[in-house]
Amino acid sequence: MFTILVNLDIQTMILMTSIDAILQLLILIFLCLLVNQYRGIKTYTIGRIFTITGYFISLIKSPYLSITLILAGVFLLVGASFGCIGIAQFTGKRIKIYYLLIINLLFLSVQSYFLIFQDVFVFKTISQTIFQMVVFSISTYCLLTTSYKSFVGASRFMAIVMIGLLMSLVARIILLLRNPPDQLFSSNELNASTLIIVFVFSFLLTAGFIMMVCQRLYYDLKAAANTDVLTRLLNRRAMMHQLEIAMNQFYRSDRAFAIILIDVDFFKRVNDVYGHDGGDMVLVHLAQILQTKMRQIDSASRWGGEEFLILLPDTALEQAKEIAERLRSYVETNPTPSNIQITISLGIAVIRQHGNSLESLITAADHALYAAKRNGRNQVAIAN
Ligand code: GH3
Ligand code: MG
Ligand code: MG
Repeated sequence: MFTILVNLDIQTMILMTSIDAILQLLILIFLCLLVNQYRGIKTYTIGRIFTITGYFISLIKSPYLSITLILAGVFLLVGASFGCIGIAQFTGKRIKIYYLLIINLLFLSVQSYFLIFQDVFVFKTISQTIFQMVVFSISTYCLLTTSYKSFVGASRFMAIVMIGLLMSLVARIILLLRNPPDQLFSSNELNASTLIIVFVFSFLLTAGFIMMVCQRLYYDLKAAANTDVLTRLLNRRAMMHQLEIAMNQFYRSDRAFAIILIDVDFFKRVNDVYGHDGGDMVLVHLAQILQTKMRQIDSASRWGGEEFLILLPDTALEQAKEIAERLRSYVETNPTPSNIQITISLGIAVIRQHGNSLESLITAADHALYAAKRNGRNQVAIAN
């Protein structure tokens, strides 16, 4: 293993790693331009600029090697800190920025101490690595504990990469302690292993970050496509999908379900009296009632203008009747905050009793609703 590292052509490795780092930075900058609805992407990219700068500084063969190395270390740590803040912003974690500031200042003091009193390469490098590990650990913590469900897969991937990075940094410390080099450029194997770490992990981290953004975009887009903008309930398309799932379960394991179709009574009048905005407020109010008053397993949707459809899984007719009646009386006795009083009519249909296909079930509920309207509104009717 070590003989391979010793024989590697460092100049070529440096060139390839540098090109790789710059290309990744360009991709991240492009990502910033393309996606601007999430916090953290810009901060993460700024972090990468610092990191790459630090990396290039460490390659400078200056006569003041100790100072250049400290400067490189500072840039690398600032880069890691910005990266950490970016990840925290993106994952919605609240981390105190001054903690990171303290870590950076502490690092600077430790490095200055080593420079002035104990200018030993190994000490400086190990302390540098340890400080970086602290920051990477905070990033890993953010990735693993994010409360966002939308990009869990990609954030786990990125956390695993971070843990891999932490482990290789531990290996680097062990390598340094086992055969301490006099200075960086005298040790080929340390150089080569560092370059490999930079090459592999910066690539994986960039890929992981882009994956998180893509997964989040996909999730948000899907949610938007399935949600009604006004009421935040499922829209008709999403409900159709739910109904198809319920139907498949019915065919496969004979699990019955019921639907309730709801229509606001004399809604045109509400619009006429309170205006279109008043009408919209009524719809939002009604959606909130449906959502809070139905059971956990049920799902409500905005089926059309002022029509709503509720899916009641594993529910027989008697239970569906109770739920519908409870909703009807709650709506009747609870006007909107701006005191608009409405009533609703409800039509119930249960699979098997009122139809064996989705179309026949919905038609049955529609007929029931029509019957409720005909019989004077503000009531529940069951399909026949
Ligand atoms: P009925 O008791 O027979 O249902 O009487 P209705 O007045 O409610 O009659 P209908 O169901 O035909 O009326 C639907 C009205 O709902 C017509 C339309 O202007 C209104 N509407 C549909 N979508 C919206 C919306 O998004 N916002 C508002 N404010 N009004 C809407
Ligand atoms: Mg209607
Ligand atoms: Mg109506």
